[in-house]
This record gives sequence, structure tokens and C-alpha cells, in this order.
Amino acid sequence: MPLINCTMKHSNISLFVPHAGCPNQCSFCNQKTISGRVKELTKEEVKRTLEFASNSKLSAENTEIAFFGGSFTAINRDYMISLLEEAKPFIDNGLFSGIRISTRPDSIDEEVLGILKSYKVTAIELGAQSTNDEVLLYNRRGHTKADIINASLLIKKYGFSLGLQMMTGLYKSTRNRDIETARDLIKLKPDTVRIYPTIVLENTHLAELLNSGEYKSPTLENTISLCAELLEMFYENKIKVIRLGLHSGGNVEEGFLSGPYHPAFRELCESEIYLKNIRKKLFEIYKNETNSDLKNVTIYVNEKEISKATGQKGKNKESLLTDGFSVAIKGKPDLDIYEILIEEN
Ligand code: SF4
Repeated sequence: MPLINCTMKHSNISLFVPHAGCPNQCSFCNQKTISGRVKELTKEEVKRTLEFASNSKLSAENTEIAFFGGSFTAINRDYMISLLEEAKPFIDNGLFSGIRISTRPDSIDEEVLGILKSYKVTAIELGAQSTNDEVLLYNRRGHTKADIINASLLIKKYGFSLGLQMMTGLYKSTRNRDIETARDLIKLKPDTVRIYPTIVLENTHLAELLNSGEYKSPTLENTISLCAELLEMFYENKIKVIRLGLHSGGNVEEGFLSGPYHPAFRELCESEIYLKNIRKKLFEIYKNETNSDLKNVTIYVNEKEISKATGQKGKNKESLLTDGFSVAIKGKPDLDIYEILIEEN
């Protein structure tokens, strides 16, 4: 069965090539655990999967074929082309909108980009993970910040949609280094970004570092606060964050050892953004107020965002109550995401 990931508008038919082409195993990575798949993907499976998916009621216009989980452009060239040859007819026949692949920054050059173009690949995602060379080194990435910049510029030059993936909380990283990474990625003007907080999985180098006490996972609370900040940075620069947190499924829960994993991670981050913005506005309005009585206010947000602004199990409303505000949260259709209006009652 294909793995079909759907968001409101877009779907991916995900075909996993776990560790294929990877020259080494990065400190945190165990793709076999993440994707729940251990065998090499065959071209027959690609065909079967895409035939199955093309008979589902997915919108061709908004559905991509995605080769994820390895370093697609670093795999054996004949094998890579044999997979693309199975996928291309589905694009030629208008059954899906394009092909998305993920790969390493040091496995991109003009020759391979030419091949990908000829097979109708439309989007390339680079696992950048960090732009700090020390973090890259200690996490056994085998590439540098310069590789990320060079590959990104080349991908854009060839007219592909550029996706960049970053991680937070890696071994030897800090909050400031993660924020610096986001700043560096913004400068590269990617079309999409994925943010993955580091999770320690079994059978990884990070698991050894965890056991020896050399690495400690950041808390869920600190990671939510950091990722909320990153999400806002990308949003302000009009860069879509298409993934925040690992997806559940596969064998993640099974191989999980430590880390800030939560199945609704993105929603928690977005709620944090609302809480911070609401507090900031309330502070501006009431900064000269000396009366400490409970104040009743109505907060308006985009009508689709009410549950995020309210927080899981009403957490934001509770936090605001301890600040001295009894709030009602209501929707207004014309407000932007994260925008808020406050009405004093
Ligand atoms: S993170 Fe990417 S490059 Fe590193 S081992 Fe995993 S799939 Fe390969």
C-alpha cells in the first residue's frame, strides 16, 4: 500500500528509499525506523504503487510523487533512473503534478540536475539540518554549510522548486545556532521548509551519546518555544513550512528513546505563537493599568484558527487567566494567520 500524505490541498505519494545512496549514517538517522520500511524499493513496486494511487480519488493537480528517505541523487545512477522511468509516464499522462525527491547537499551537480529535469522532477528537498559546520561535523553529516549554499543556488538556477530541511536540538547545537540556521535558510529563499526537532532513535550514534550522557534531549517545552519562533520567522518571510515535527506512523514510537516528540507538535507551536502575540498586545494595551481586577476581553483571530489560539484543552485561556485576563476567543474571517484583534469588554 502506498503511503499517501495529505494536507488540506496537497498530497504526496511517498515512496521510501531508506538510506539508499547515503555514504554514512548521520548521528540521528535511522530511516528504517522512520519510514517503517527495510527493503530496497523496486521499480515494480513504484509502478504498482502509482497505479493504485492513480485509481484513488486524488486531485492530479495537487498530488506529487515523492521519493523520500535516502539520498536520491547519490544512489546508483542506473537504479535512480530505473525508478524515475517508472514514475515519468504518470506525469506525462497528467495523473500527478510532479516528482519530489529528497537528497544531500553534496550530491547535487549540473549533470544530475539535467537528468532530473528530463524525468520531470519538479521539486528537490535538501537535508540541510544545520548551517553550523561544527554541528554538521559532530552529527556525521559529511557535508558543510558551503555545500548547502552551492546546491541551493544550483537547484534554483535549474528552475526546480527548492525545499530545505532543518533540525533543532542536534548534538552540539544550541538555540542560537538553530535560529542562525533558520536565518541562513531564509537567505537562500527556499519555496518550502521542513523543521524536525531531533528525536533519539534506537540503533543510532545519538543513542550511544545519550546512553553515555554526552547528549541530552531538549525538553518539549523549550523545543515548542524555539520552533514557534522559527515558524514565525519563515512565515514573515513568506516561506511555507510544510512539515514541523516527525510524522507519526512508521515505527517512530517503537524506536523512540528520547526527545521532544508529540503527535500534535505543530499545533502546540502555533498555539504558542498565539499566546505570545496575545500577551504582547495585552501588555501594550494595559501597560499603564494599575487596577489589578480581572479584565474581560474578547480576542478575535482568523475563524479557522480559533482552536490554535485557545490552545490544547484551553491552555492559552488558562495561562491568560493567571495573567489577570478572562478571555473569549472569537473568529473573524478577514484576519490573517497569527493576526489578532483585542476588544475590551
Ligand atoms: S539523514 Fe539523510 S543522508 Fe543522513 S543517513 Fe539519513 S537519509 Fe542518509
